[in-house]
Amino acid sequence: MNVTCETSVDSAPMNKRIRFFGVDMDVLRMDEAVRQVLAWTESPTDHCRFVVTPNVDHTVMLQSRDDLKAVYDVAHLVLADGFPLIMTSKLLGRGLPERVAGSELVPRLFELTQQENRTLTVYLLGAADGVADRAAQRIHAQWPNVKVIGTYSPPMGFEKDDAENQAILDRINSVRPQLLVVGLGAPKQELWVHRFYQQIEADVALCVGATIDFLAGEKPQAPVWMRRTGLEWIHRVCSEPKRLAKRYAKDAIVFPQLVWKEWRSGGKTS
Ligand code: UDP
Repeated sequence: MNVTCETSVDSAPMNKRIRFFGVDMDVLRMDEAVRQVLAWTESPTDHCRFVVTPNVDHTVMLQSRDDLKAVYDVAHLVLADGFPLIMTSKLLGRGLPERVAGSELVPRLFELTQQENRTLTVYLLGAADGVADRAAQRIHAQWPNVKVIGTYSPPMGFEKDDAENQAILDRINSVRPQLLVVGLGAPKQELWVHRFYQQIEADVALCVGATIDFLAGEKPQAPVWMRRTGLEWIHRVCSEPKRLAKRYAKDAIVFPQLVWKEWRSGGKTS
């Protein structure tokens, strides 16, 4: 196993990290990642920690986007979300133990909060108008100890508008949630959180794509067997063919080339 560094991420246990596809990824199982995020929500620091979950598409994007790479370089947790990443890791002996998808991490975190009779305050940022409110209702029904204390769906192009960005920060900071769930799609969510994490008054921010839609029941989530066998992409393409077919076709061409490069480099990809 090519363990390239260890990281002491604020008050959390030292995690092993491996260099994989040019990114330092945390070697963590789902249970460990959930525990770590929960611990952070109970130990405030002076800035918000943030979590990213690279999948195949992000890995492809990273090759041509230095701005996204810069985000990954400082993220407090980098969790491999994607069956192909885990399979490649196993094939090349790199040691990523299992897939840690953001869309599973969030409900697992809520479940643990409920089971252990803790409380967790949450802000949902992203998804179409009204979706986060529906997600909040379902969250309260299923996990009463999880309190959604704010939701907001930013307008199109918000990220280019300084006044709107400040207004979003003001909304979040006025309620100071323990957990900020950010579902703005990649790479927008990662870039936005990275730009503002030192001003966000939350303990942890999770960049987790369509998770708010899944929690609201707005988008159907692939059945567990598809998620466990690497076939989730078929489900996603079928549910949003216009948006995703071209992206996945590109990924299918580029990703094998990256695997080849990764194998040749022996884990030293920059
Ligand atoms: N989204 C948003 N604002 C934007 C762009 C996207 O709230 O400006 C939301 C969109 O409504 C959806 C999520 O971001 O809820 C997209 O998640 P997904 O993981 O499907 O996006 P991807 O990262 O795959 O592009």
